[in-house]
Amino acid sequence: MCEVFKGSFTQQEPICEAGIKAAVEVMRHGRLHRYNIAEGEIAETARLEQEFAAFMGTDYCLAVASGGYAIALALRAVGVKAGDRVLTNAFTLAPVPGAIASLGAIPVFVEVTQDLTIDLDDLAARSDQAKVLLLSHMRGHICDMDRLMEICDAAGVVVVEDCAHTMGARWRGVLSGRHGAVACYSTQTYKHINSGEGGLLISDDAALMARAIMMSGSYMLFARHTAAPPPQEFDSIKYEMPNISGRMDNLRAAILRPQLARLAQQCAAWNERYRTVEKGLQSTPGLTVISRPREEEFVGSSIQFLLLDWTDAAIAGLLDRCAARGVELKWFGGAEPAGFTSRYDSWRYAPSQSLPQSDRILRAIVDMRLPLTFSLEDCAQIARIIRAEVGAVWQSPGVA
Ligand SMILES: *Cc1c(COP(=O)(O)O)cnc(C)c1O
Repeated sequence: MCEVFKGSFTQQEPICEAGIKAAVEVMRHGRLHRYNIAEGEIAETARLEQEFAAFMGTDYCLAVASGGYAIALALRAVGVKAGDRVLTNAFTLAPVPGAIASLGAIPVFVEVTQDLTIDLDDLAARSDQAKVLLLSHMRGHICDMDRLMEICDAAGVVVVEDCAHTMGARWRGVLSGRHGAVACYSTQTYKHINSGEGGLLISDDAALMARAIMMSGSYMLFARHTAAPPPQEFDSIKYEMPNISGRMDNLRAAILRPQLARLAQQCAAWNERYRTVEKGLQSTPGLTVISRPREEEFVGSSIQFLLLDWTDAAIAGLLDRCAARGVELKWFGGAEPAGFTSRYDSWRYAPSQSLPQSDRILRAIVDMRLPLTFSLEDCAQIARIIRAEVGAVWQSPGVA
C-alpha cells in the first residue's frame, strides 16, 4: 500500500496562551475600539504599533483592518490617483491588483522570472510607464532588492512593498519592507502572525504616515498614536484627507503582540520544514526546485516548485494523484481561478497584456502551504509522496 498523508494543509497553530489571556482581558474591560482608553492607558493597538516599529527599525507604524486595506492605503498615501498606472508583479494574489483597482488606478504587470521574483530587466524596460511600483514579495521570494531600488530610484518610481509573505525575512541582512517608501503586512490567518484579519503599514516618512493615519479613520484623535509623527505633522493635512475607516481594534492587537514576540522562533520552525521538503524534492526528474539566492533570508511558510513545459493534462493528473494521497497542491496555471489562486489574465478589470515569459512560468508553478502544525516527519513524507507521483507521471508518454 502507498503511504497517505493525514494532516491538514489549512490548519494553523492555535493562538498561544499569552494571546488568549490578553484577548480575554480586553473583552473583560470592554474597550475594544483603539481610541477608547482609560486615563493614562496606552491601547493594545498603539502598543502593537510601537512593538512592530521597533522590530522593523522604523519610526512609524499603523495597524489596520487587513493587508489589502494597508496596500490600498499605502497607494493613496504615496499619491496614486484614479487613472494612474501602477507597476506590479504578474505573479501575485488577487488583493494586490485589487488594491490598485480600488483606487480607480490601472495595474501594469511586470514579468516573473524562473526564481519566482519580479523580472528586473522587464521592470527597467517598463519603468517609464508609471510613477509607483507595488512590489509583491509573492510567496516569500525576494528579488535583488539593491538592483530593484537602483532601477526605481533612477526612474523616479516610488516603491510600495507588499510583505504579506515576508514578515521577518531579509535581503542581505535588511528586513523585508525596509527598502521602499512604505511597506504593508497582513495578519490574516494564513500569514506569519494570526489575528484572523488585520494589517500593518510601516514607513519612515512623517508626511506620508500622517496622511495614512488620517485616512485610516483617526478622526482628530491622531495624538493617541504613539508610533506616529508629532501632532503638528497633521496640521496641514487634517482637513484634506478623507476618512476611509479601516482601523485595527484592541482585541486583534492583543492577540498579535505575543505572537510578534516569538516571530523569529516561528520563522526558524518554518524554514526547517521548508528545507526538509526541498531536500526531499531535489533532483526529481521533471521537477524544478526554486533556487534561493544566498542573500535572501526567507521565511518558508510555503513552498513552490515548477513543472516546466508539462502539458495541462499531466499537471492536473499529478495534482489528482497527490490529492488521493492526502497532499493538497495548488496550481497557478489553471485556466480558471480556484481557491486563493488566480492568474494575471483572470483579473479582467485590468487592461489585457501579453506576458509570454510569465505565461510559461505560471503554467508550471505548483504551490503548497507549510503550516507549523506539520512535523518534520510530515514534511519528509509529503516530499516522498510528491516525488513518487511526479516519477510515475513523468515516465508516462506525452507529459511534456
Ligand atoms: C494575503 C495577501 C494580501 C492581502 O492580505 P489580506 O490581509 O488578506 O487582505 C496581499 N498580498 C499577498 C501576496 C497576500 O498573500
